[in-house]
Amino acid sequence: MRRVSVFGATGSIGQNTLDLIARAPDDYDVVALTGGRNIAQLARDAVALRADLAVTAHVDLLADLQAALAGSGVEAAAGQGALLDAAARPADWVMSAIVGAAGLAPGLVALEQGATLALANKESLVTAGPLLMETARVHGATVLPVDSEHSAIFQALVGEDMAAVERVIITASGGAFRDWPIEKLAQATLEQASSHPNWDMGQRITIDSASMFNKAMEVIETKEFFGVQPEQIEVLVHPESMIHALVGFNDGALMAHVGAPDMRHAIGYALHWPERRPLPVARLDLAQIGQLTFRAPDPDRYPALRLAQEVMQTGGMMGAIFNAAKERALDGFIAGQIGFLDMAQVVEDVMTQLSSDNGLIRAGFTLDNVASADHLARIRADQVMADKTGR
Ligand code: NAD
Ligand code: MG
Repeated sequence: MRRVSVFGATGSIGQNTLDLIARAPDDYDVVALTGGRNIAQLARDAVALRADLAVTAHVDLLADLQAALAGSGVEAAAGQGALLDAAARPADWVMSAIVGAAGLAPGLVALEQGATLALANKESLVTAGPLLMETARVHGATVLPVDSEHSAIFQALVGEDMAAVERVIITASGGAFRDWPIEKLAQATLEQASSHPNWDMGQRITIDSASMFNKAMEVIETKEFFGVQPEQIEVLVHPESMIHALVGFNDGALMAHVGAPDMRHAIGYALHWPERRPLPVARLDLAQIGQLTFRAPDPDRYPALRLAQEVMQTGGMMGAIFNAAKERALDGFIAGQIGFLDMAQVVEDVMTQLSSDNGLIRAGFTLDNVASADHLARIRADQVMADKTGR
């Protein structure tokens, strides 16, 4: 039996992960499940999968979780410290599916135990790629990509030599507004930005797909995970979301990964790696699909892609600054404080403000330094938004 823990178990990736685990209950010994405010879901899953421990991120919900788990034999815990304790419990495979920068610290602790970390939390690589990869190396641990594009690249690289890779192409659906006239984007509402044409995901990543911040993060994620140069990474708009990524080799070959848009593929690949096992995902009928289409991303429509280039050129703590400013700008958009196009403007303003602070940007990759850069960027983002709205 493999010991598994799932961080962010109540979310979209977490629930898809539990779906796969629940299909083969005898194969897995569930150690810890974690969640946020959805206590009923967390308790229900922890009991059904006989987890040792369930953790909510919120201390004020401990009593609720304890009540929901009373008599079940599942331990209850709450708060940031409890999340790190849960990550320190021995496990063979740990799913990192908390959303946002909060996912970084538990992932690092899991790697320090030598666990295989299935990484859905792209923020870990955007904010602290070198720290995460180095922690894995030092502790003999493995990081496996779960983002669909990165799983696709990873699969296309099996048996290949990185020296033969010329370029990596990640596809983007173009999000909710890919066909909107550009003048209308400023008026895009929260509801419109929260529905994705092809994927069913958490609300935050869905809005990030509409703004292309998601793809911007994935470009940085590609650089950090695969160690390729920024100029080797391309983004291709592919509205059907059937091809998830392509790897171009020095002989001109392009290896594409084609599959239905269902995250259980990438999650399952990471769960069973290095084997392939049957997965309950749709089989594509390409004759029925008929055609797949591609276009170059329009830089005017998607300023986030340009900001990703700046992050990669600057390096250091700029990834943490970019991500934190983006998280606050997204909070501002969700709260109705700023408009859809303001998000990229807020992030750019914060990056510009902090880019000349060499002490901050060039601080080494430690969790403390990343947290400080994150903290400062959030404060600046809040100031920029307050100035914009005159509040
Ligand atoms: P989600 O919002 O559906 O779920 C997030 C989970 O994290 C929930 O369990 C929530 O309770 C928990 N959480 C939220 N804030 C927390 C905090 N501060 N501390 C501890 N726990 C917290 O998100 P999701 O769509 O499942 O995405 C999870 C991660 O996977 C994100 O980093 C996202 O970018 C990435 N990802 C998601 C998809 C997808 O299809 N949903 C695809 C690729 C990558
Ligand atoms: Mg993705």
